[in-house]
Amino acid sequence: MKIGILGGGQLAQLLSYSAYQLGLEVICYAPSSNCPAARNSSIIVGELDNREQLTKFAEQVDVISLENENIDVATLHFLQARKPLAPNPAAIKTSQDRLLEKALFTKLGFNTAHYQAVNSLTDLDNACESQPLPGLLKTRRFGYDGKGQARINSTDEAQQAWNSIAQQPAILESFVDFDYEVSLIAARNHDGHCRFFPLLKNQHHNGILRLSTLLNKPNLQQKAQNMLNTLLSELQYVGVLTLELFVKGESLYANEMAPRVHNSGHLTIEGCNCSQFEAHLRAITNLPLPKIEPTIPTAMINIIGIPPPNAVLQQTPLHYYDYGKSPRPNRKLGHLTVQTRTEDELSKKVAQIDALTTSKTQWT
Ligand code: AMP
Repeated sequence: MKIGILGGGQLAQLLSYSAYQLGLEVICYAPSSNCPAARNSSIIVGELDNREQLTKFAEQVDVISLENENIDVATLHFLQARKPLAPNPAAIKTSQDRLLEKALFTKLGFNTAHYQAVNSLTDLDNACESQPLPGLLKTRRFGYDGKGQARINSTDEAQQAWNSIAQQPAILESFVDFDYEVSLIAARNHDGHCRFFPLLKNQHHNGILRLSTLLNKPNLQQKAQNMLNTLLSELQYVGVLTLELFVKGESLYANEMAPRVHNSGHLTIEGCNCSQFEAHLRAITNLPLPKIEPTIPTAMINIIGIPPPNAVLQQTPLHYYDYGKSPRPNRKLGHLTVQTRTEDELSKKVAQIDALTTSKTQWT
């Protein structure tokens, strides 16, 4: 069976490694053949508005999925008319727009940060008056890794923040004084059957994910699963969906969702009996989904900006995934997965890897 993936980045590359183990083949659709997924899959080169190339792509695959949600909905409908597409365009459309996404969370009864739509400086001034500050002004579309965001501490910073996001349609969110951040990943198949991964605890640096670890908190797990289960059925979702949450005491606040495999879930390759990549491929091809169980304490460290020093790579045991991208500030170049027998050993190992980098800024 041939799986078509829109995009040729590291998520497509990692899906393709997993596809190999399931006897599936991956063909990616990307604007250039010089991309991470070209290491292990075929690439059809084309822009997302090139109907001729899209048709050729659709003809060569049995089912289509994606590694990046920012794809024009018209393109998704064009492909869906030719081959099964999962997740569905309506779910992807919601996830492309922070306002639609937050409105859906509110409709489903999830806690979120206070938020308001902002279409002008006047809207922003009014929002700053009527909801708690500090807040974050976030563009409705195309924001990732902290991009398209500006912090507002007081009303007189509104103008500067509005200009810094190029006056694009946005939302103003009040700051959630959270204890820590988590993500929950789940897979849902065509029969509506869902499997949930263990919660992942995530630490960011400069708005970019740096460290993820498996989190064992049964109460929070159950609460997060109830939320994600509701979301999956509401969206009639097929494939892997990720929900990012803030934790404050025993409360969960929904921040955003990603309709795809997620960076925090990379540790599931070694840290669970079935990875997020395998679960996604199983869900979209209607293969049985196993119950997901964690293996041993596991951490994932992103390689950001520059390659890891040799002293880090000499650590054992260590899994190093090099996406094959050229170094650039703030670019995700790869990730490391470390596993130990106990949580204590894991913290020490992560601290050791941290210390081996001559300066923290090397990683950012
Ligand atoms: P986002 O692009 O929405 O995932 O935001 C990137 C990061 O900014 C999150 O992972 C949080 O660390 C932080 N952040 C986003 N929204 C809020 C908020 N309302 N309150 C506090 N921190 C936030």
